[in-house]
Amino acid sequence: MAKFIEERVTKVIHWNERLFSFRCTRNNSFRFQNGHFVMLGLEVEGKPLLRAYSIASANYDDYLEFFSIKVPDGPLTSRLQHLKEGESVLMSQKPVGTLVIDDLNPGKSLYLLATGTGLAPFLSIIKDPDAYERFDKIKLIHCVRKKEDLAYFDYLTQGLIESEYIGDHVKAKFEYIPTVTRESFKTTGRITQLIEKGDLELDPQSDRVMLCGSQSMLKDVSQLLNSLGFQVSSGQGSPGDYVFERAFVE
Ligand SMILES: Cc1cc2nc3c(=O)[nH]c(=O)nc-3n(C[C@H](O)[C@H](O)[C@H](O)COP(=O)(O)OP(=O)(O)OC[C@H]3O[C@@H](n4cnc5c(N)ncnc54)[C@H](O)[C@@H]3O)c2cc1C
Repeated sequence: MAKFIEERVTKVIHWNERLFSFRCTRNNSFRFQNGHFVMLGLEVEGKPLLRAYSIASANYDDYLEFFSIKVPDGPLTSRLQHLKEGESVLMSQKPVGTLVIDDLNPGKSLYLLATGTGLAPFLSIIKDPDAYERFDKIKLIHCVRKKEDLAYFDYLTQGLIESEYIGDHVKAKFEYIPTVTRESFKTTGRITQLIEKGDLELDPQSDRVMLCGSQSMLKDVSQLLNSLGFQVSSGQGSPGDYVFERAFVE
């Protein structure tokens, strides 16, 4: 397994029967940009079984954090969900991805639009001081089916603001907007509906957008953004008004 880094799990949180998070140790030589993903997994019958995972911790944290779905018969997550402290995970050495603020044109407000575990890369970006330097406002919209799927709710409403390193930026500039589609809640409806109703007013002159979710969410929201005049980044140093990453392969 020399091609892979082995890290040790230090903490596991189960949000409900479909979602969990875990932390692990971080090799000193492992560098990434906030918003990147990595191939992560387990050794199964002597072979690596890996899947793409967004890194949910910030690039200055001395640990790595991941936020995961539990797919009951999923080759990896049917096993990964049973991880215990002290056990090992495998990781590729090269983090990659298109959800990076460097690929956005300058703007005033940054909108982070996520469904489900698509929240993961944004947990990293909302801890990035550089993101707060570049934008006057950062708004995180997390869309889930049920209230219980709002993982990190307490952290996003309270914990983050208490952070010694980033708390002042968060207090001044960060807004968290959770929305639920299958239960009553203070905000309900899909992200596309919030945009269409005008609850989220997006202006290509001043706003920049990052998207992470299912293929259908990306398709629908991208179409809406294009119709509003937003230009997508083509990556590789060619910035745009919005960037996106698939949260999983359907
Ligand atoms: C760029 C990228 C980043 C990703 N980051 C994350 C992440 O941070 N957290 C995470 O949990 N997953 C993430 N995924 C998905 C992840 O790679 C795996 O698909 C997931 O861990 C399930 O693995 P599995 O082997 O158990 O099942 P798989 O065989 O990989 O998936 C089985 C089926 O489960 C569904 N599914 C898979 N992942 C999800 C999901 N996250 N949410 C809802 N339905 C899903 C899909 O319908 C899929 O066809 C990412 C995928 C990509 C492409």
